[in-house]
Amino acid sequence: MEKPDYAEGGILYELMGDTDDIITDYENIRDDLVAALYGVWDHIKNGGDHGAENYELEWVGMLPGVRESRRLVGDYLLDETDILENRIFDDAVCYGGWNVDLHTAHGLLDLDRHPSGDTRYFDGIYTIPYRSYYSKNISNLFMAGRNISATKLGYCSTRIIGCCAIGGQAVGSAATLCKKYACSPRALAPHIRELQQLILTRETAFYPRYLTRTRTTTQEMLSLPQSRTGSAEKRGV
Ligand SMILES: Cc1cc2nc3c(=O)[nH]c(=O)nc-3n(C[C@H](O)[C@H](O)[C@H](O)COP(=O)(O)OP(=O)(O)OC[C@H]3O[C@@H](n4cnc5c(N)ncnc54)[C@H](O)[C@@H]3O)c2cc1C
Repeated sequence: MEKPDYAEGGILYELMGDTDDIITDYENIRDDLVAALYGVWDHIKNGGDHGAENYELEWVGMLPGVRESRRLVGDYLLDETDILENRIFDDAVCYGGWNVDLHTAHGLLDLDRHPSGDTRYFDGIYTIPYRSYYSKNISNLFMAGRNISATKLGYCSTRIIGCCAIGGQAVGSAATLCKKYACSPRALAPHIRELQQLILTRETAFYPRYLTRTRTTTQEMLSLPQSRTGSAEKRGV
């Protein structure tokens, strides 16, 4: 079919969420999304003059993208304050800078709010402490990616692919040192400087260009004022 010259095409994506369990109810959620999608398409084509006579539906995704699922609790729970205040942790092993983009709980089922209208923007970057990357009660378990120890709002920023990727590199480096010292993830804490240097010098994933091998503290490495330094003490969760 020849496309009209006023529209090259586009992508329609839906957000939906409810009280369902994203894992066990996955297929039901998929069915609801498909039903909603064809309802929207029916409206576009038949529900009024939308100028869509020559539009065609070329492709429909059948695997819903899961935005949020299980997160594990570590020795530190990163929250939105850490992010919005550009917190710099002494045991930082990763950093992020994406906005806190909270999606509306029920997606398109909430008729009063924009599905992704609750975004909080901020300047600068924040760090993620090593303590958010291992379980607080399973002694030999690391987390990496979207399942790290963060609150719902904290997760809204840390979930971004780049942040997940360099966090994964940090965890891989930490696992190397756990093997070297024959210790659990938590027991690696005294070796945090070695871990940070390893991430920097071997993986080049942690503040490339800004860190040097000779620096010893995160504060120095980041060259940020003391007032922006976060406490390294554990937060009870
Ligand atoms: C619709 C959508 C759009 C997004 N858009 C963006 C974007 O534009 N930019 C951005 O930066 N981020 C985006 N994100 C967020 C980002 O994609 C995710 O937060 C991120 O990819 C999570 O990475 P992860 O490694 O934790 O998990 P995943 O990428 O989900 O990787 C987990 C992997 O583990 C595999 N797996 C699961 N169980 C097992 C098992 N038992 N054995 C072996 N393998 C298993 C899975 O198949 C999967 O490949 C988007 C997310 C969604 C849902």
